[in-house]
Amino acid sequence: MMNTSNNYALEMDQKDPLRQYRDEFYIPLQSDNRPYLYFCGNSLGLQPKKIRAYVEQELLDWQNLGVEGHFHAKNPWMPYHALLTEKMASIVGGHSKEVVVMNTLTVNLHLMMVSFYRPTSKRFKILMEYSAFPSDQYAVQSQVKYHGYDPEEAIIELIPREGETLLRTEDILQTLEEKGDEIALVMMGGVNYYTGQYFELEKITKKAKEKQCTVGFDLAHAVGNVPLKLHDWQVDFAVWCSYKYLNSGPGGIAGCFVHQRHEKRDDLPRFAGWWGHDQSSRFLMGPDFHPMSGAEGWQLSNPPILPLAALNASLSLFEEVGMPALIQKSRHLTAYMEYLLKEIDTNRISLITPADPTQRGCQLSIRVKEANKTLFQTITQKGVIADWREPDVIRVAPVPLYNSYEDVYQFAQILQEEVKSNR
Ligand SMILES: *Cc1c(COP(=O)(O)O)cnc(C)c1O
Repeated sequence: MMNTSNNYALEMDQKDPLRQYRDEFYIPLQSDNRPYLYFCGNSLGLQPKKIRAYVEQELLDWQNLGVEGHFHAKNPWMPYHALLTEKMASIVGGHSKEVVVMNTLTVNLHLMMVSFYRPTSKRFKILMEYSAFPSDQYAVQSQVKYHGYDPEEAIIELIPREGETLLRTEDILQTLEEKGDEIALVMMGGVNYYTGQYFELEKITKKAKEKQCTVGFDLAHAVGNVPLKLHDWQVDFAVWCSYKYLNSGPGGIAGCFVHQRHEKRDDLPRFAGWWGHDQSSRFLMGPDFHPMSGAEGWQLSNPPILPLAALNASLSLFEEVGMPALIQKSRHLTAYMEYLLKEIDTNRISLITPADPTQRGCQLSIRVKEANKTLFQTITQKGVIADWREPDVIRVAPVPLYNSYEDVYQFAQILQEEVKSNR
């Protein structure tokens, strides 16, 4: 049973089978050398220590081999991206031919919509969640305009019921039932960045498929955070970044999933580049594009090796731990934070994030009644790195790979002091 004593946190840390992984990361230090309570892994994951060696290997091979590194580096650069495919595929529940690491998130979203948003005069709408991450809104709006439609008419936003903050799955399915015939593409976040709600992707996909809609998900806040089975769920495509829960470093290289059933679709339009061209004839430099089958066929450029090396280092930790063990700790650690927040004797704190552990990842979005930014600034001064969203929401993500129960305990203590004194 959970309790509010510091001993409970210490005991849970001792028993934690993943506890040694905290030492695999650099935790930013305060001026007195104590580690910050870092809860921003949903925004920028911390640096795995082993990234340095992985990147240095590539710098060294470049230094010593120059262009020969493409074939003779310790890990030759020509096929380097493929070193990451299996590890990435197992995190999102895809087959290896369905997954490729390339570009950055918004770029991949555009590339996927070029191929999979195929509006017709009868079916041209895109269904997305209300207040999606701005980049997704801009990408979707611009795609709609690119095809000559008016975003006002072509984008259907899923809006929570009056007085509610979360979307109900039943309402999403109902919208699909009613408007599915007009919807060309369902394009939603996997986990909403603001509320932390993990949408029921399997049910949504199933219903959308019944209505013959194409389905794509932005998994920026889902990948490395929640269980995913993109292949089994029959999702058409998905995109994600790697610098949040996947800890690949600022602006790290992103990921993309294309379902197997599209692997040889040469009827789909796509924006092409030489790295998507059939490998065996790529260097004949011929004028006609013959795509590789599978997700790799959407590659444009030869990929940046240094960011790939960084992500490869980070993914090796995920491979070692495995998503099931990670999610097990994640659910318990987040439930512990939820428990401590509820124990705070105040009516000022409420949680926006779903209480059902299968409908959230590790992030909790905390609403603080009558909060102002000074409350947030004070907890920052006391060593908490979290995220403030106007007008009154603090987002915190206890990340199972490097956050401890003690981190969570101390955060709850600090928040408690502040909500009781600050007004
Ligand atoms: C973080 C995030 C982005 C950021 O896009 P970049 O192309 O990586 O800058 C986009 N969409 C969502 C949903 C995000 O959470």
